[in-house]
Amino acid sequence: MPTLDTFAAEKLARLDHKHLRRRLVETAREDGLWVTRGGRRLLSFSCNDYLNLSQHPAVKEAAIAAVRSHGVGAGASRLVTGNHPLFAQLEARLAALKGTDAACVFGSGYLANIGIIPTFVGKTDLILVDELAHSCIWAGAEMSGASVASFRHNDLEDAERILKAQRAAHRHAMIATDGVFSMDGDLAPLPALAALGDEYDAWLLSDDAHGIGVLGGGRGSTFAHGSPANPDAVGVPLQMGTLSKAIGGYGGYLCGSQSVIDLVKTKAASFVYSTGLPPSSVAAAIASLDFIAANPEYIERPLHHARAFTRALNLPEAQSPIVPIVIGPADKALEASQDLEDQGFLVVAIRPPTVPKDTARLRVAFTANHTGDDVQRLADAVAPHVGRR
Ligand SMILES: *Cc1c(COP(=O)(O)O)cnc(C)c1O
Repeated sequence: MPTLDTFAAEKLARLDHKHLRRRLVETAREDGLWVTRGGRRLLSFSCNDYLNLSQHPAVKEAAIAAVRSHGVGAGASRLVTGNHPLFAQLEARLAALKGTDAACVFGSGYLANIGIIPTFVGKTDLILVDELAHSCIWAGAEMSGASVASFRHNDLEDAERILKAQRAAHRHAMIATDGVFSMDGDLAPLPALAALGDEYDAWLLSDDAHGIGVLGGGRGSTFAHGSPANPDAVGVPLQMGTLSKAIGGYGGYLCGSQSVIDLVKTKAASFVYSTGLPPSSVAAAIASLDFIAANPEYIERPLHHARAFTRALNLPEAQSPIVPIVIGPADKALEASQDLEDQGFLVVAIRPPTVPKDTARLRVAFTANHTGDDVQRLADAVAPHVGRR
C-alpha cells in the first residue's frame, strides 16, 4: 500500500477503536422537521434550522428569483466582479438588526472568523478565547499569530487574571467568545465581558451563530441580556454570526463600525481571496430577515420548546434552543442516540474533539415547528439517559 493510504488507514483504525471515527449519513430533509435516513423517517432534533426557514416557501422563492436574475454564482471575489447588488441590501439589513454602522457578508461563518480575527490581532497581540468557543474562533486565533490564552468557560475572574498578567506586554488585545455556546446552549456573560474589554482595552468579538433570529427579539444574544427597554446595553464592537442556522441558508457576517467593516473588506484573507456568496444565498437571507421581522411571536417558539423540555426533565432552564444531555463516554453517547433513533427521533451524538474529552453528549435543538407534543414525547424518550453520568 502507498504510504499515504497506510497513513490514512491507520489513523482511521485508531479513531474507530476510540469510537471517534465520523461517518456521513445520507439525510434527506423534508420540511425542517422530518428527515429520511436509511429509508426511515425520523423527527429531527439535530438541525440548526431553528425557524425551519431553510424550507420556507417565501425564502425558497426569493432564492429562485435571484438565480433567474443573477445566475447561480458570484463569478469572482467580491472585490473583483462578485459584488452583485443584493449584497448591499443584505448588509444594510444586518447592520440595522444589530445596531451597527455597517456589515460585511462572508462565504460562511467559519470563513468569517478566520478572516476577522487575523485582521485585528497579530504577532504583538494577545487573544483570550473561552475554552468552549467554536472551532473556527480557535482557528482564527491560531492563524493570527497572536499569543492565544484560553480562559475557563464563562469565567470572568479567570479572564481578568490573564488580562492582569499579560495585557501590558501586548500591543492590542481581543476577547473572543460564542454568544450562545453551540454545544452547551448557554449564553456568554456579554455585558460583563464587554466591561472587562473596556477596562483592559481588549476588543470583544461575539459569535452569534445560534442567537440571531431566535434570541433578543431576533436580534441575537447581544440583545438578550439587558432589559427589553434597554436592548442596546451590551457594546460588542465585533458582532459576528452566520446565515446558516436560524436564517436557514448559508453565509457568514460581521457587524461593526464603518472603519472596522472597511478594514475587514480590505484585509480579511477569507473575504479578499474567496468567491462571493451566490446571489441565491444572499436573497434567501434577506427574505428570512423579512420573515423574522414580521413574526415576533413565531421566533420565540424554539426557546419556548427548549424550556418546556428542561422543565419536563428537571434540567437547568434552557437559555437558547440548544439543550445538552451530557453522557460522558463516546460509545455510551452513540448508544443513547441509537436508542432514540429506534424510537423515531434523530438526536445526533456529539463527541470529542467537538466537545471536551469525557463529555460526549446528546445535543438537542428545538425548532419553531416542533409541537408541544413532540417536545413531551422526546422528553419521555430522553429521560432514561438523563443524569446517568
Ligand atoms: C456553526 C457555527 C459556526 C460556523 O458557521 P458556518 O456558517 O456553518 O460556517 C461558527 N460559530 C459557531 C458558534 C457555530 O456554531
